[in-house]
Amino acid sequence: MQSFIYKSAPTRVIFGSGTVSQLAAEMELLSVRRALFLSTPEQAGDAEAIAATVGDRDIGIYSNATMHTPVEVTDDAMTTVTACNADVVVAIGGGSTIGLSKAIALRTDLPQIVLPTSYAGSEMTAIIGQTEGGRKTTQTTPRVQPEVVIYDVDLTMSLPPAMAGTSGINAIAHAVEALYAQDRNPVISLMAEEAVRALAEALPRIVADPGAVDPRGGALYGAWLCGMCLGSTGAALHHKICHVLGGSFGMPHAETHTVMLPHVTAYNAPAAPEAMASLSRALGSPDPARALFDLAGAVGARRSLRELGLTLDAAVEAGRLTFENAYWNPRPLDAEALESMMRRAWAGEPPKP
Ligand code: NAD
Repeated sequence: MQSFIYKSAPTRVIFGSGTVSQLAAEMELLSVRRALFLSTPEQAGDAEAIAATVGDRDIGIYSNATMHTPVEVTDDAMTTVTACNADVVVAIGGGSTIGLSKAIALRTDLPQIVLPTSYAGSEMTAIIGQTEGGRKTTQTTPRVQPEVVIYDVDLTMSLPPAMAGTSGINAIAHAVEALYAQDRNPVISLMAEEAVRALAEALPRIVADPGAVDPRGGALYGAWLCGMCLGSTGAALHHKICHVLGGSFGMPHAETHTVMLPHVTAYNAPAAPEAMASLSRALGSPDPARALFDLAGAVGARRSLRELGLTLDAAVEAGRLTFENAYWNPRPLDAEALESMMRRAWAGEPPKP
């Protein structure tokens, strides 16, 4: 019998198609009137269009959200927060925009309404990563947990299929690690298995028919569940390696997760039989690591660190760096096995335990 602790986050979640129209009502419920809308430069048009839907409320727009939440960008955004005397932050975008929203909430305690447009899952966590002087640090605090999340599948239709594929596999990684986390619990494990099933089913269908709403809805549903997995359990080797590859070697977030996930799953498989049984059910395969490798192929993703521009030496070095700062992993870290895993991931070979 497994003992556990389960704690649920207080976020209010609205899910569907056309749900962006409920933003004004959600602002009313929070008793706020002066919104600061956030986006990346690429999604500035979306932010402006959505801002125009909230009636006569005072608004500000800041469209310079940047990857890895640099503190200089947060400093810059704070001048707009002050200028429009914002009493709520509304973030429209992926993990980068949500990161800026969280950074503002950390400094001001302003409530956040988040409209996610990718599958990264940050909206469902109390985690914030920030970069200062080229160094990324992460902390967990309930102050950055968004109060309201509005999932609107319509906002995800513009996600190019290739990005949907890697962003979706990035989300699956949260569920995979939740299944073998030291602090796993039965509720989150149910969500994790369902999340992997939903995403594995939806992602190839998005690539085959990018305009179809149904698979986009399935993927967004899976991504929501994956976000809850990430927000509720501790991460292990997979997230640690991706953090090193992103932070120290500048590798792209979702694509790096996509390359590494099959290999880390294979590495941990012998030490996590229950998690592998869940994944086998969700993926419809007796070999979950191989099924994840095949899924990456089915969505047309690059499956090697080499193709993402990393050198073999850097890949091996990244494996070594994962020994810094002890953290829990179901299978103890073994230098030789890790090096061989990094070599396979670099070359794009199928995963092996
Ligand atoms: P991103 O937010 O950087 O988005 C990548 C690009 O895609 C951006 O230009 C963005 O504007 C664009 N984009 C997003 N949605 C789109 C859409 N529907 N249509 C067209 N373009 C769209 O990337 P991401 O993968 O969503 O997030 C990655 C970042 O989030 C990383 O920095 C990661 O560390 C962070 N993250 C944090 C947490 C957390 O809990 N704190 C969780 C997951 C990810």
